[in-house]
Amino acid sequence: MNDTLEIGGLTFHVRHSLRRRTLGLMVGRGAELILNCPVDADAQKVAKWAQSKLLWVHRRLARKEQMGEGGYIPEFTTGENFFYLGRGYRLKVSKQQPESLSFDGNRFWLQRDAMSNAAKHFRNWYIQHGRMWLTERTASLVRRTGVSPAKIDVRDLGFRWGSCGKSLTLCFNWRLLQLPKRLIDYVIVHELVHLREPYHGDGFRRLLERALPDWEQRSEELRLKGSAFAIL
Ligand SMILES: [Zn+2]
Repeated sequence: MNDTLEIGGLTFHVRHSLRRRTLGLMVGRGAELILNCPVDADAQKVAKWAQSKLLWVHRRLARKEQMGEGGYIPEFTTGENFFYLGRGYRLKVSKQQPESLSFDGNRFWLQRDAMSNAAKHFRNWYIQHGRMWLTERTASLVRRTGVSPAKIDVRDLGFRWGSCGKSLTLCFNWRLLQLPKRLIDYVIVHELVHLREPYHGDGFRRLLERALPDWEQRSEELRLKGSAFAIL
């Protein structure tokens, strides 16, 4: 059974599911609002609940507009997929969890009490793991360009995947860690080439082609896939 609900000038698509026990709200890829609820949910209660979420919805929609097309806003519930190095791992929300967020190689574990700050915990997790992973990965790619960065940092770079700063510092966006390794490699090599050629001219292109002959294909893939991840 599918329905729509109009509240505060917004349209919610109501999805009833046999598997659901609680109410949940999702902002889809096209900014559509999906309200998941149990099959026997009381319509009035559902409407009231959605009403109480309006501020949250407006904040999420604003964030989505800022981040552009393609991404989705997670709910942080058990079963949801989060990407790490191109692979999706399910999230499990649990009360008995020593850390706010951890990853055991099979799934992400989120402490129930940490749910309200889940986006922040995920960002921090990607940044921490990203520093180690990207430092090692970059070290394995430097022979392609012949220059090593003095320092590698991982943070939020908004729309950019990477940047090459002063004094041989390379900076990477933590969002990169969600992508497949071959696309991360492209961003790393691209920034390594910038250590020698700051601008995107013929010289840059020549060096990039030598370092990564199929860079154009990877760059196009990055353009297509790069925005289809969780907005945190
Ligand atoms: Zn560049």
